[in-house]
Amino acid sequence: MGEGWDARIGYDVLVIGAGFAGLHLLAELRKSGFACHAFETGGGVGGTWYWNRYPGARCDIESLDYCYLHDRDLHREWTWSERFAGQPEILRYAEYFAGRAGLFPFITFGTRVVAATFDEPSSTWLVRTEHGGEVRCRFLVTAVGCLSAAQIPDIPGIQRFRGERFHTGQWPHEPVSFAGKRVGVLGTGSSGIQVIPRIAEEAAEVVVFQRTANFSVPARNRPLTEAELAGEPEKYDERVALASTTRFGHVVAGTGQSILDSEPVERRAALERRWADGGTGIVATFTDTGRDLAANALLADFFRDKIRQTVADAGTAELLAPRGHPIGTKRLCVDDGYFETFNRDHVRLVDLRAEPIEEITEDGVRTTRENYPLDVLVFATGYDAFTGALTRMDITGRDGVRLADRWVDGPGTYLGLAVSGFPNLFTITGPGSTMNLSNMLRAIEHHVAWIRDLLVRLRSAGVRTAEAEQAAQDDWVAQVADAASRTLYHHADSYYLGANIEGKARVFMPYAGGLDRYRRICDSVALDGYRGFRLSHVDEPVAP
Ligand code: NAP
Repeated sequence: MGEGWDARIGYDVLVIGAGFAGLHLLAELRKSGFACHAFETGGGVGGTWYWNRYPGARCDIESLDYCYLHDRDLHREWTWSERFAGQPEILRYAEYFAGRAGLFPFITFGTRVVAATFDEPSSTWLVRTEHGGEVRCRFLVTAVGCLSAAQIPDIPGIQRFRGERFHTGQWPHEPVSFAGKRVGVLGTGSSGIQVIPRIAEEAAEVVVFQRTANFSVPARNRPLTEAELAGEPEKYDERVALASTTRFGHVVAGTGQSILDSEPVERRAALERRWADGGTGIVATFTDTGRDLAANALLADFFRDKIRQTVADAGTAELLAPRGHPIGTKRLCVDDGYFETFNRDHVRLVDLRAEPIEEITEDGVRTTRENYPLDVLVFATGYDAFTGALTRMDITGRDGVRLADRWVDGPGTYLGLAVSGFPNLFTITGPGSTMNLSNMLRAIEHHVAWIRDLLVRLRSAGVRTAEAEQAAQDDWVAQVADAASRTLYHHADSYYLGANIEGKARVFMPYAGGLDRYRRICDSVALDGYRGFRLSHVDEPVAP
């Protein structure tokens, strides 16, 4: 039990989730002497990378940036094999980290937390698991991921389908064979765009049901070279520095020029270089494409031209060319042969805007135009992003108020780290933090260090509760909205705005002001004695 707190409480800190965030926090808490434990729904560590086992699953951030940086030795010990690591390798890395830090005995696997209730008289959280277990703790930290609550659309007849059915984010552990089968895929976001080419390599027939065409750039994945790997130890300090001095947490170099001011020939040449290099860096080529619609349209034209050059059938190419949202306002996808896949005879694109799905039948999908007989249905339909993993748990704070009810008009948080009315609850990469608008690993490392430092401070000061003040939260919510208003994000019906979930409040949820700025704000809050938090001490009387 950690020093200074009451041993009868249970744990000092309970962590929900054993992905990259939960594992790192657990390791830091153990090093700091807290009595802590984690609950994890999955049968192993890794979070996103435990669940997303679909063929083609691969990170869209480069391996040497998508890894922990808080431990120089760890960075030196692990050797990534490819520029963009695949899911199995990232999962092995998470397992290696957990083993190296001796975390496995402190995680209960296969156990979903279904409820957490703040008990005001004792100022503790009572946490309930799906198996009926109850555990008490002083502090509760959620590390549940911001894209983890899988979403399957409620299409009429869905339960009747007799074939196999999968969601990319809940992929089975045993191999799935598509050989000789007719496979339908719903969804053309990052997951769909990765899985479709791999399914097409095996299946007899593939029908892609597309609602919104997406922008995608080739990954140009390749093995990392000896020279790149050999130079990595020297780059370590620079990478650590970039985590706090860049918008994304790693360097995304651009030309520093405006696309509107560029000459057509030099513009094309700069974009061609980035296209040939692969990865999402192309959107940062010019300074104005993220904030000016006319500038953005020039970049979008370049992408649409690439699709026309790649896809042989002109009609299919036009359907695949995204329209109706500026490039970058839905996450840019990174692919390996996605558009080329539509040149294969056994792959067919169905435009759901022209022929919406009427129902799923026992043996396929029926649109307003046609019946598509299928053996397998793959849902690459995304997530109840940012809030779903939190609101699907029954979290109840002061005065019996449920988090899901509190957030019905959009998620209010203080710094994405705490919620007023929910004392002693902290959220890693919660709504209102930079989340996946930055490198998730960099955001996670910042949150973990910030929360660990706060907990150490609270312990030494004998603090009983720490709670975000409503005024500080309201101010932060306004800052999140203000940062978003300076971008083009409002021009797309994206999950950033909750638009993919029927009935969800339309509120831009991530902080779009950049990780560098976000970190400076959080660090100033800490330096200022955790400004915006109300602290009550162990010897203060507890409200009845
Ligand atoms: P997503 O981006 O939300 O895409 C979901 C897709 O399903 C969209 O095309 C959506 O169409 C479609 N869809 C949803 N409901 C539908 C319905 N009722 N009928 C037809 N289509 C429907 O989800 P995701 O692809 O799983 O990606 C989520 C995020 O996870 C990514 O943005 C990224 O941050 C992360 N991710 C990363 C990687 C990587 O690192 N490479 C890979 C996978 C995921 P609409 O656009 O019309 O809504």
